[in-house]
Amino acid sequence: MVESSYRDTWAEISLDAMYRNVTIFKRKLAPTCKLMAVVKADGYGHGAAEAAFTSIEAGADYLGVAYVDEALQLRMAGIGHPILVLGYTPPRSVEAAVKHGIAITVCSHDVLEQAIASAQRWKRPAVIHIKLDTGMSRLGVGTYEEAASLLHMALRSPEVTVEGLFTHFADADNGAADAYTRMQFARFTGIIGQLRSEGIPVPPLRHCCNSAAALCYPDMHLEMVRVGIGLYGLPPYEPAPREEAAWLEQALHLKSRIAALRMIAPGQPVSYGCTFRPEQERRIATIPVGYADGLSRALSNQGCVYIRGAAAPIVGRICMDQTMLDVTDIPGAAIGDEVTLFGGTGAAFVPLGQVADTMRTIHYEVACLLGKRVPRLYV
Ligand code: PLP
Repeated sequence: MVESSYRDTWAEISLDAMYRNVTIFKRKLAPTCKLMAVVKADGYGHGAAEAAFTSIEAGADYLGVAYVDEALQLRMAGIGHPILVLGYTPPRSVEAAVKHGIAITVCSHDVLEQAIASAQRWKRPAVIHIKLDTGMSRLGVGTYEEAASLLHMALRSPEVTVEGLFTHFADADNGAADAYTRMQFARFTGIIGQLRSEGIPVPPLRHCCNSAAALCYPDMHLEMVRVGIGLYGLPPYEPAPREEAAWLEQALHLKSRIAALRMIAPGQPVSYGCTFRPEQERRIATIPVGYADGLSRALSNQGCVYIRGAAAPIVGRICMDQTMLDVTDIPGAAIGDEVTLFGGTGAAFVPLGQVADTMRTIHYEVACLLGKRVPRLYV
């Protein structure tokens, strides 16, 4: 929290924005369709517990994380809501999940065997979701036979609650083309149909939609959608956001303050490697934030920030803890002035996507890169 920090760099995170973002998704869903808030990777850098509490308050039914450790952190924060570990849980970690009432993703018999043994040991049900790989080629079983075999084994074990069956789309954020997503959905529903026709009970929660699919493919919502990036107010697909995506509100704002100012003569270099040497005299500000905070070095001599509503280019190489700006065109710039690195308001608003474009990456990564040492101020 910023109150206990002596730093002049902080992330402002709007819980109200997150709350409103969840409600935007909720409005898109049938009343029977559940919403899973995906809060893995420390809530995409926003703080997992804060994102989880806010999402729950806004009506999220389920939480999604990547690893058992992340789920345990939520339990330690006092969150009793259902949690699903979406990633691979190695057999040695299954027991911790079962003990703490955390649902796991199952795609192999050894993990299922461990779930059954753990449930017997702790005398509490092992809750599982079976994952199908329908085209992402990452995790999950790929055939009807494999799915049926896992289901048979799980359904024979009274200790196991087979709660879900799911898949993940590889290309749902590709606004221009829907063929691959439709093919994956057809594979998913095809396997489900086959299970039904063989008299194998299908788990009650079937889910496949991430944020992009939840907005673009209402016919694929099934019993639950898994919303990550949209919860943080970042547009889930490019380009041409639909109306709903345009309503989303970026929750993350990175701020700093000018720590030092100096005039530099023509030709005088700035920062490591002397990569910036102006032709004319310039006024240079230093801010106490660097690549160790998640301000990627790829933004060196590329990005820009806002001071007093005006843009100031980043000049020279971004250092581990400090960054230099050209504030020549902001004559009033003074030590202590607030600097917006991303986020902000009005004409000076910097979308995370813009920073990502400059870094040649995606806004998911920019948010996740935000360093642990940056104090988070929840507003
Ligand atoms: N479901 C799974 C299995 C995921 O891995 C992710 C994120 O990577 C999500 C849902 C959420 O996706 P998004 O952040 O695009 O909404």
